Amino acid sequence: MNLTDKAIVITGGGQGLGRAMAVNLAKEGAKLALIDLNEESLKETVALIEQAGSSANYYLANVTNEAEVEATFAKISQDFNGIDGLINNAGILRDGMFVKAKDGQVSKKMSLEQFQSVIDVNLTGVFLCGREAAVHMIESGKKGVIINMSSIARGGNMGQTNYAASKAGVVAMTVTWARELGRHGIRVGAIAPGVIRTAMTDAMKPEMRDRLEKMKPVGRLGEADEIAHTVKYIMENEFFTGRVVEIDGGLCM
Ligand code: NAD
Repeated sequence: MNLTDKAIVITGGGQGLGRAMAVNLAKEGAKLALIDLNEESLKETVALIEQAGSSANYYLANVTNEAEVEATFAKISQDFNGIDGLINNAGILRDGMFVKAKDGQVSKKMSLEQFQSVIDVNLTGVFLCGREAAVHMIESGKKGVIINMSSIARGGNMGQTNYAASKAGVVAMTVTWARELGRHGIRVGAIAPGVIRTAMTDAMKPEMRDRLEKMKPVGRLGEADEIAHTVKYIMENEFFTGRVVEIDGGLCM
């Protein structure tokens, strides 16, 4: 896919990886539709896209809310005359151990609300936005691309029952959609980043970050632009579908 003038939707486009993806795609001439909950950060991303020589609209919406997602994608499709790409990037962390056992006392550590809130954003949000994008792409006859953000945590990780389950589910949906949507000319892929420097990982304890840096053969955390580069590769490569690209500096070899 040549990205010039293509309409690309990015959820969670206000900051972090979503912002880096938006700015990098703007440099290729794509037109961006950014969805997020945070208006101030969305405005900053739009300003950066304009500096990069392209244009963007932003839409305040919660990806977990079916009615909001439907209305937002209908508006985007109208504003941009169809949708060529979606990056399902909005995501949250609410880490915690599953259960705790101390001094003979066993207690539940991860609440149902803590589990469900992460599933709602990271899995249900991806489902709702992916479904809406697919409907609009098929209706307008666009040969679009959907990219879902998974994580290296999808294989299971201490303290991440909710997050790991959501990111494994994202991969399962990616493969299912690649199989179902291929006949409509829609490609679907996933990216599983390692630890990348964003607000999400700035919240980590410094000693944990140091340990992760040392564990990676490249000896550092990843940069948001390195994930944006992978997005561009998937969008442009017409033979890519149904696969997960791991960009983790060698952490999970
Ligand atoms: P971030 O926290 O910096 O940004 C996430 C964005 O999503 C924020 O702007 C937030 O407002 C938005 N968002 C959250 N809930 C939303 C909702 N319900 N509706 C709409 N927008 C919502 O995160 P990031 O580090 O940029 O991560 C982006 C994606 O990449 C996430 O899916 C994350 O799980 C995944 N990921 C990140 C890393 C990393 O190291 N940063 C590693 C693996 C996977």
